[in-house]
This record gives sequence, structure tokens and C-alpha cells, in this order.
Amino acid sequence: MAEAERKLGEFGFAGDDNVVPFQVEGLDARGRAVQLGPVLDRILGRHDYPEPVARLLAECIALTVLLGTSLKFEGKFILQTRSDGPVGLLVVDFTTPRSLRAYASFDEEGVAQAVADGRATPADLLGKGVLAMTVDQGGHMQRYQGVVELAGQSLEEVARNYFRQSEQIPTEVRLSVARQLVQGERAREHWRAGGLLAQFLPDASERMRLPDLHGGDGDQGDHIDLTDDAWAEMRALIDTIEPDELLDPTVGPERLLFRLFHERGVRVFEGNAVIDDCSCSRERIKGILDGFTDEEIAESTEEGQIRVSCEFCSTEYVFDPAEFATRQ
Ligand SMILES: [Zn+2]
Repeated sequence: MAEAERKLGEFGFAGDDNVVPFQVEGLDARGRAVQLGPVLDRILGRHDYPEPVARLLAECIALTVLLGTSLKFEGKFILQTRSDGPVGLLVVDFTTPRSLRAYASFDEEGVAQAVADGRATPADLLGKGVLAMTVDQGGHMQRYQGVVELAGQSLEEVARNYFRQSEQIPTEVRLSVARQLVQGERAREHWRAGGLLAQFLPDASERMRLPDLHGGDGDQGDHIDLTDDAWAEMRALIDTIEPDELLDPTVGPERLLFRLFHERGVRVFEGNAVIDDCSCSRERIKGILDGFTDEEIAESTEEGQIRVSCEFCSTEYVFDPAEFATRQ
């Protein structure tokens, strides 16, 4: 035990809101793990979302953090759902190296009804639609967008499907969200989320195709086991993660990784902190209003002012309509 503790100490505990990249050499897998605390509280605390909506957005935030922090260049990673359930839109965007923002758009009555009817699982709330993930490098670089269907699955399943279809990389994702009561002078509720993403990336790429080689005899081809032994072991280990453990601050991502993979030689790398940071500004919003016609400006004016709230961070910007007048 003493030896294990020493080794753990070398990891240096990333703490909340820090993504920990890891590699399990013995199993040809790489991934990232994170526990979100304060950043989630700040983002969700600013919106008064019903609990199941906040929970769903928190899952999307955890997934976005795991994916966005893997970008190897400056840019944006945007995760967005559009669906026909009571929660019609979820948007989370991550701007390298660490800025995170998010919001949900939903039908209040629809959500309340779903809760009352006991149909408020993430899949129920989203309904049918799509989840899109966009990578935007800005400038003249082309945007890349991958889209996957939402069809009654958990976000974990959706993410796995996405990677299987779009990237053809075997991927496992675990996400967990909880609202915890923290005792203190004033007991307060805090949001926490945990996430782990692992991908099978063998150096010898033919190993990923190995099962194809057995496809020749008889109808066996229809029942090929598409899993490599190493990946099967990786998945079995990931299956042992308890939802609570994934977000428990007394465990932390590094201790969890150690528990899961130390027998296979897990290595962790320098973490990547994420912060609550919206990129909206008075200039940007003025830029949008500059494009309005006189009529649209008039329509946007109330009591002599134009008030625009940022959907992400709720910051309100107030303009004098005179700033946009006399353009014709
Ligand atoms: Zn904002």
C-alpha cells in the first residue's frame, strides 16, 4: 500500500476542473479524465434551469471538455443538440486553451410535464434529433462538423456511436453528474460532473483491422468479434467505474486512473485547466446590431434602449438606439 501511495503522490493530483490526459501503454489506449466542480457551479448557477435540464447540460459540458481539450491547434469545439423533445437545444462551446460556456433552450411546461409523468431521462427530454460536433479553427480554415443521431440513447452511447461512425476509432465514454449537498455554515448544493474518455489507438494500425482477416470462412463474417483483446480488457476495466467514483473529489481523476489501469502501466500527463469564460463583448453585439435595418433597430428598442442579453453568460448589454440611427 505504501508503495502505491508514493506512486500516486507523483501524479500531483490535478484537482477539479483539470483534464488529465492519460495513456495505458499495455493496452494501446489513450484518453482523458476530468472532474468538474466550480466551473460547473458557475455556469449552471447563472441560469435557473430545472434540475433535469441542468443535469443534461452538465453531461454535455463534461463531454465537451473531454473532446475540446484534445484539440491540437487554436480554435473552437462546439457541441450542440437539436431535437424535438422538451429540451430542444443544448450548446456548449470550448475555445482553446481553456474557455468554456454553455446554455440550454427548453420548453418549461414540457419539461415540468415530463418530470410529473416520470419521463425525464436524458433521452426523454431530448427526444429525436441530432447531436453535432463542430471543430472551427477560425480564419480561412474550413469548419469540420460531425453529426450523429439522438434516438433514445444516453449521451455516452451517442458519443460512442459518433466515434464509431465518423472517426472509426473504438471509443469508450463515461459521464456522471450529481448535485451534492456540501455541509458547512450554510449548507450549499454544488454541481459536480465526472467524465472519462478512452480510445483504442494501437501503434500498429493493422491491429485495428485484424478481425477482418478472419472474415473469409463461411458466414462467420457476420459474427466477427470486432474487439481486440487489449481493447476488450480496457472496456472491461472501464466497466468497473461506479458513477459516484467518477465524480468523487476524494478519489479524483488520477487516483481513479491508477485504480483502473496501474497493472497495465498507466501514465498521466500535464493537466489542462478549464474555466468559465464567455467570449461575448459589447463590440461583438454592436457588430450584430450594426447589421440591422432601421426598422429592426426600431423593433428592438424598448423604452428608449436596446437591451441584449448573452444567452451563454446572461450578461446584459444596453445600447442607445441613436448609435445605430441615420444610416440612410
Ligand atoms: Zn456571454
